[in-house]
Formats: sequence, C-alpha cells, structure tokens
Amino acid sequence: MSKPLFDSVLIANRGEIALRVLRAAREIGLRTIAVHSQADAGLRHVALADQAICIGPAAASESYLNSKRLLQAAKLTDAGAIHPGYGFLAENAGFAADIEAAGLVFVGPSSASIRLMGDKVSAKQAMLEAGVPCVPGSPGALPDDAEQVRHIAETCGYPLIVKASGGGGGRGMRIVRTPAELNESVAMTREEAGRAFGNPEVYLEKFLEHPRHIEIQILADNFGNAVWLGERDCSMQRRHQKIIEESPAPGVDREAIAFIGERCVKACQLIGYRGAGTFEFLYENGEFFFIEMNTRVQVEHPVTELVTGVDIVREQLLIAQGFPLSINQSQITLRGHAVECRINAEDPFSFVPAPGTVKSWLPPGGPGIRIDSHLYSGYQVPPHYDSLVAKFLAHGATREEAINRMAGALGEAQLTGIKHSIPLHQRLMNEPGFVQGGFDIHHLERYLEQDKETSK
Ligand code: ADP
Repeated sequence: MSKPLFDSVLIANRGEIALRVLRAAREIGLRTIAVHSQADAGLRHVALADQAICIGPAAASESYLNSKRLLQAAKLTDAGAIHPGYGFLAENAGFAADIEAAGLVFVGPSSASIRLMGDKVSAKQAMLEAGVPCVPGSPGALPDDAEQVRHIAETCGYPLIVKASGGGGGRGMRIVRTPAELNESVAMTREEAGRAFGNPEVYLEKFLEHPRHIEIQILADNFGNAVWLGERDCSMQRRHQKIIEESPAPGVDREAIAFIGERCVKACQLIGYRGAGTFEFLYENGEFFFIEMNTRVQVEHPVTELVTGVDIVREQLLIAQGFPLSINQSQITLRGHAVECRINAEDPFSFVPAPGTVKSWLPPGGPGIRIDSHLYSGYQVPPHYDSLVAKFLAHGATREEAINRMAGALGEAQLTGIKHSIPLHQRLMNEPGFVQGGFDIHHLERYLEQDKETSK
C-alpha cells in the first residue's frame, strides 16, 4: 500500500462524537486537532487532542456550522483531513466540496454522493435504480400546481406524508389524512423546509401506519468494495427522534434482511459510494421500504460495533486514508445482541432540555457495558447544542441478557446536578412492549400518552 493520504485529522464536531473520533484517530496514530466554540473549551476531547483551537462564539452558526472558520482552523493547524462527526456540517455537500477544493480529505463520501443521497428525492430515485424497494409516493418533487398535487395524492392514496427533500432530524414532515388537509400541509411543509433547510422542495409518500424503523449499516472503500454490517432496529422514537436502538432487529427474517443488505451494497457500488453510511427503511408486514440514506456515521453506530466487532469510525478513517476495507462480507457475523439508550440532558417526563452543571458523574461498568460520553463531574452542559450527553450500550449473548445488563447499568449510573433521561430508560427496560420487542415506531408515544393518563 502506498502512503496514507493524511496523518492528521481535524475533528469538526463536539461532545461524545468528537471524543469517539479522537479515540479512533489516536489508535491509528493520527495527530488529532480539536476545534471548539467559546462555550466548549472544557470538553474532554479538547483536553485530549494534540492541538486545540477556538473557532468562535457559542452559537453553532458562528462555530461548528461555519465552514470558513473550520477550514481556516485546518489550514492554521496543517490538518490533512476533516472528520465531520454527525449533525452540524456532516451531510453538507458544500462543506465537503470546500474541503476537497482546499486539497484536504473529507472523512466521508464525495460531495457528489452527499448531494445525491442527501436529497431524499434523488436518493429514492437512485435506490429504485439499484433495485432497493422504496415507500410508494410521488415520482419526484411535487409541482407547484395544486390540481396536479391533488392528482398525485389521489394516485398514492391516503393517508400520506409530505416530506421535505432536504429534511433531516425528524423535521420537515407532515401527515395528511384527508384531501381537505392536502393544500395547507404541502404549503406549510414547503415554507418550513425553505426556512430550515434552504430548499422548499417537498414530495409525497404513502404514510405507513405501523412500521418499524430498521436500518442497514454499510462501509465502502475507494476500490469498489462494500460490506453491510447487519441492521439496527430504531423503532423506539419520540417525535421522529430515536431514543433506543438495538441489533439485531427482533423477529425479522434473516434472509429478508440479507436480501436488503445485499441490495444496499449493490447501491453503494452503483453510485460509487465511499465511507460509512446507513440506509434507513420502514418495515411493515414483512416488507422493507427505503426512506433515506445518512451519508455519515450515526449516533447509534456503536450498537453495530458491539455485535460485529468492527470499529466503524476506525474504518472510516482508514478508508479516507486510501486503504481498502479491512474486512470482507464473509467475515461479518452478528454475535449476540446489543442495545443503546440515548441519555439526554432534559426533563425525563416533559422532555424539555435541561442544561446545567453536572455535580457528579459516575458511569457504570461491568461485562458487556460500553459508555460513550463526554461528561465529567463539574462539566457544564451548554444550552446551545443538542442535549445528548451520553450513550449507554449493553451487549449480551441474548436480547434478554443485553436488556438486563442495560437495566443494571442505568441503575448503577450516578448523574446529579442536571435533569436527564436515565429514569425514562429505566422504566422502558421494564416496559412489556419493549421487553417483548418488535414494536412499531409509535409505541413509545403511545406508552407515554398512557402513562400520562394513568398518573393523572
Ligand atoms: P429524517 O431525515 O428527518 O430522519 P426520515 O425520512 O428518516 O427523516 O423519517 C424519520 C421518521 O419519520 C421515520 O423514522 C419514521 O418514524 C417517520 N416516517 C418517515 N416516512 C414515513 C412514512 N412514509 N410513513 C410513516 N412514517 C414515516
């Protein structure tokens, strides 16, 4: 193998994922460069990095979302590559293109792949061409003409969901149950999408009433090699945001999953995809329907790392350095079961974000437990960013063992000074629907609603 394309990486992110990237980079001998906002000087990875640089005020628009400042920081520190983590600019094709143009390596797919897959309409088209089943819906973006939209809606059949082509993070979606709501829902989603994503394009999809959310993790290199690393069931959601993820998906036919996984690999090869990525599907009545692709590492990637033994972030960095994939499909097997609980700094009942100062933090441990977190006693959770403060992961020989270990870890953890979602997760680990597995994406909201009723 010729020389790696870079030997230093700037981590264009914060919190737990910045720490995760730093650890993987350090392990393969890269020089690590942290960037941080004025509110984040005290982050763990900032202290651990070989070099750290402040890129601006707390507001994300002035720091983590400011590609100019990030590129300046890369230049100043002589970074060879930029890892975007997730969120912020991770799926911003313009950012990737600017990095490419500056002669640096973007740790992720090409800007062209991000553009293609980041737009949900073009992504669906590409997937259909690769033989990946998609949710039935409008053939592309909706036209302006209300009559034409009405006609398209009739053809798909109600209920429908209006979705923003550029949407993400569970935003830019509206359910339409009757023709009377159609015009207004389309107009409102357009307006919101224009404001939030800078792209007012929307499309229609059949609204599936009781699907599960099952996604396929892939890795692809520059040489046409691609593998799929099993699936994750992320059906435990609130407001389209994932709360708990697990692998494998309980009770789903392995052959059906393998069929979808192989199609995803084929799709990667067809579009010349490089790096880590996730194909997200809705699963209903034994059928998979593609909804979107995430062209980055995901919050829930450790679930897959636990069951496959593959370090996804390390592979991302090695692929970006120009190395071929270190594993082939025949080497990938799922071992046991893994569960992840996302711990947010928020009220566990009202879900209102609750920034503040951590008084004490004693993470749990023991066999099969992994904690990904940037927390420490005395840490101040700033109000400016996403409220995720820790990911608890439990791995066991069986699903039952993984859940038991998780319940133990949640009970053992000590996190005081801020409100957080550990109490919610503790209840969920004993909730019969969760324990049984195979619930749909509305399960959590139904449970929370019932809970509110009974505690009245
Ligand atoms: P985002 O990019 O914002 O995450 P997705 O397209 O991945 O948007 O959808 C997020 C969530 O919204 C899904 O996990 C699912 O809960 C719900 N959803 C999306 N499309 C549909 C659909 N056609 N029918 C039912 N629910 C849907």
